[in-house]
Amino acid sequence: MSSEDVDDILLFAEEDDSALNVLDEQGWHILIVDDDKEIHTVTQLALSGVTILDKPLFFGHAYSGKDSVDYLREHPDVAIILMDVVMEEDDAGLTAVKQIRDVLHRYDTRIILRTGQPGYAPEEQVVQEYDINDYKTKTELTRNKLVTTLVSALRSYRQLCQIKQNHICLEQITSASACLQKQRDPAEFSKLIVEKFCKLMQIPNAGVFAIKGLTQDQNQIILLGGSEDYQAYQSHTLEALENGRCIRQISTCFKTKTHQLTEQDATLFLASQKYHAVLYVDNGINQTELGSYIEIFLSNISIALDNIKLIEELKITAFTDKLTGLLNRAGFIKALNRYVDDPAQGDVIALLDIAHFSEINHGLSQEIGNQLLKSCADRLSEKYASSCTIARVNADVFGLIGHQQWLGPEQIQELFNYPLLVAEQRFPIYFNLGLLTRDDSTVNGLQALKRADIALNKSKQSNSLNFAYFDESFEQKMAWRLGMVRQLRADFNAGRLQLWLQPQVSISEQKVISCEALLRWPTEQGNMISPDVFIPIAEHSGLINDIGDWVIEEACRHIKQLENRGFHKIRISVNVSIAQFRDPNFVDKICHTIEIFNVAPESIELEITESILMENPKVVIQALNDLNAHGINISLDDFGTGFSSLSYLNQLPISKMKVDRTFVQEMDTPNGANIVETIISLGRKLELTTIAEGVETQSQAERLAELECDIIQGFLYAKPMPFDDFCRYLAEKSH
Ligand code: C2E
Ligand code: CA
Ligand code: CA
Repeated sequence: MSSEDVDDILLFAEEDDSALNVLDEQGWHILIVDDDKEIHTVTQLALSGVTILDKPLFFGHAYSGKDSVDYLREHPDVAIILMDVVMEEDDAGLTAVKQIRDVLHRYDTRIILRTGQPGYAPEEQVVQEYDINDYKTKTELTRNKLVTTLVSALRSYRQLCQIKQNHICLEQITSASACLQKQRDPAEFSKLIVEKFCKLMQIPNAGVFAIKGLTQDQNQIILLGGSEDYQAYQSHTLEALENGRCIRQISTCFKTKTHQLTEQDATLFLASQKYHAVLYVDNGINQTELGSYIEIFLSNISIALDNIKLIEELKITAFTDKLTGLLNRAGFIKALNRYVDDPAQGDVIALLDIAHFSEINHGLSQEIGNQLLKSCADRLSEKYASSCTIARVNADVFGLIGHQQWLGPEQIQELFNYPLLVAEQRFPIYFNLGLLTRDDSTVNGLQALKRADIALNKSKQSNSLNFAYFDESFEQKMAWRLGMVRQLRADFNAGRLQLWLQPQVSISEQKVISCEALLRWPTEQGNMISPDVFIPIAEHSGLINDIGDWVIEEACRHIKQLENRGFHKIRISVNVSIAQFRDPNFVDKICHTIEIFNVAPESIELEITESILMENPKVVIQALNDLNAHGINISLDDFGTGFSSLSYLNQLPISKMKVDRTFVQEMDTPNGANIVETIISLGRKLELTTIAEGVETQSQAERLAELECDIIQGFLYAKPMPFDDFCRYLAEKSH
C-alpha cells in the first residue's frame, strides 16, 4: 500500500461513512445556486421530468455563495451544484467553491459553474484545483445541453461515490478481519462479527453467530455469541433461543448451505475449513449496493474462524451441558467461584436431584429420560432464567444459584406441583434438594458444591422432608467417612480383610451344595465392621474394584482348597457391585482369574442386585451374557426389594433368584407369606432356581419347602464363618 492509499483510507475513515448512503438515495440531489430567482425557475422547468442514470432529479436552492455553503453543510447528499459565478460579489461563486472543497471537504460533489457574462471564464488553474466539472454560460444551458452536462457530471459523481464506498467497505472488512484474527475468545469473536457486519451493511447491530462441529455431536448447533440481545444464549445450543423464526432460519441455512435473505432478516452461511457457521442478523440487508461485500466479508471471517478452534472447542464442551444447553458441572463450579467472591450473585445454592430418574431412564427408554431432563431444564429456565444461574451438574442433578426469595424449598416445590409432559405422558416429578446458604462461608466454588452435595445426601436420607440445609455436623460425618476410607484402604492393602462363607442347603437333598462369600473387616479390637457399613464406602471411594477382584480370587482359592480337602462341587457365590460392572475389563478379569486358579467356571456364581441392572441395563446385560457364555452362573439377589424389573427378567441370563431376607422374615404374617409364595412361583415359571436367604426358624424352612423353594440359607443352619470353620462344618454335616 502506498502512503497515498493510506492517507485515503484515513481520510475516509474520519468521515461518517455517509458516502455509503448516497448511492441508495431515491434521486439525484441538484443544488441550484444563483442570485437571480428567474434562473432557478428556468433551470427547474428545463429539467422537469428528466431521469438520469435511472433516477429522477430533485432540487435545492441557494441564492448566494454563502447560502450555498450553508445548504451543503446541511445536505450531505448533494450530487451536483449548478453554481453562478457572479453573485453578491464578482467571484462569490468561486469563493463558495473553495470553501466547499477546502473547508467542507466535499470532494465528490460535482460542480458546474455558470455565468451570465460570456467571455468571463475562470482561470484554468481554478478549474483544476477545485475540480470543476464544467463551465457554461447561462445561454448555453438549453434543456439538451443541460441534460448532457448533468449526465456526464452524475456519471463521474456516481463513480466517485462507488470508489469511495469500495474503499470504506474494504477498509471495514480488512480492519474487521484484522480484529477478528486477534480475537481468541469465542463470545467476543462472535460479538465482533455481528457488530462489524451490521456496520458494513448499515443496519442496527443485532444478531447472533452460530456454529456447527464444535461439540462431539457434529450436528449440534452452538450459539457462539452475538449482539447484546443475544448474549444470554452464548454457548447454548440453538434450541435455547426463544425465537422460533430465528431457530428455523438458522437451521434451514445450515441444512441448505445457502443464505436466507428476507425483508425482515438475513441468515448467511459460511464454511471454513473446519466448521460450518451461520451469521443471523435481525434486519434485512440491501443486497443491490452492498451484496458483493457480503461474500468478501464472509470469506474473511471463515479464515479467522479456524483460528479460534481448539481453545473454543475445549471451552464450550468444557462448560456447557450438551443435552440441556445449561451449564455443566465445570460451568457450575465456575459460577460458584463467582458466587463465593461476589455476594451480588445471590445468597443460596441449591442442588436438585430428580428421584427415580434412572428407573425412568431404563424402565422406559433413554430417549424418554433425555426428554424428561430437557423439560425439567425448561421448567427451571422458565422460572429462573432471569434471576438465577442454572446448571445440570450430574445426570439427574440440577444446580441453582440465586437469592433465597426464589430458591426456598417451597418455591422450588411449586415449580413441580404439576407434572412434566414428555412424549404425551405425564411425569410427576419428585426430587431431593440440598441447600447451602451464604451463612455457611466457603472458600471456593468446589467446596460450596461439596457442601451442597452433602446437604443433598442428607435430604435423601430423611424420611420426612425432601430437602436439607447444609449443617457443619454433616461435614464431620463426612470426615468420619473419609477416615473410614483411609483405614479400609490401609487394612485391605495389609491383607486384613477376610472372606467368610455361609452355607446354602438344598432342600431336596438336605445337604450343603454351595455357600455365599461375605466380606468381613475386623477392627483392631477384634470386632467386625458390617459390610453394610463399609461396602457403600468402598463403592463410593472406588476401592470396591480392587476389593472385588480380591474377593473373586479368594473365592477361587477357596474352591481349590475345598477340592483339595475332598469337598467337590461346592459352589461359591460372590456378591458384585455396580462399580465392578463399570470396569470394561470386568468380564475378562474374572475369566482370567478362573483360568489362573484352574477352577471350573460353574463353581463360581455371581450375585447381582436389581439396582445394578437398572443403572445401565445394556452394558450389564452384555456383561452377563459374556459371563454366561463362559459358564459362570448369575443369581439375582435381594429379589423384590428394588424397582420391579419384571419386564427384564426373561431377557436376563440368570439361573437363580434369591428371595430377600426381609420377605422371609415376614413370612409369619399373612401378607408376607403371600409375597414369598408369589416370588417363588414366579421363579418357577421363569425356570429359575429359587433360594431363600435369612431363614432363621424351622417353621420358615418348612413353609419354604412346601412352596418348593430349592435352596435355603440362614442362621437356622449356620452364620457366615471363616474358611477353616466352614470346612469343619462341611465335614460334620457329611457324616
Ligand atoms: P446380602 O448379599 O443380602 O447378604 C446376606 C446378608 O444376610 C449377610 O449379611 C448375611 O450375614 C446376612 N444373613 C444371612 N443369614 C441371615 C439370617 O438368617 N438372618 C439375618 N438377620 N441375616 C442373615 P452381611 O454379611 O452383613 O452382608 C451384608 C451385605 O453386604 C450383603 O448383603 C452384601 O450386599 C454386602 N456384601 C457382603 N460381602 C460382599 C462382597 O464381597 N462384595 C460386595 N459387593 N458386597 C458384599
Ligand atoms: Ca448376596
Ligand atoms: Ca440378599
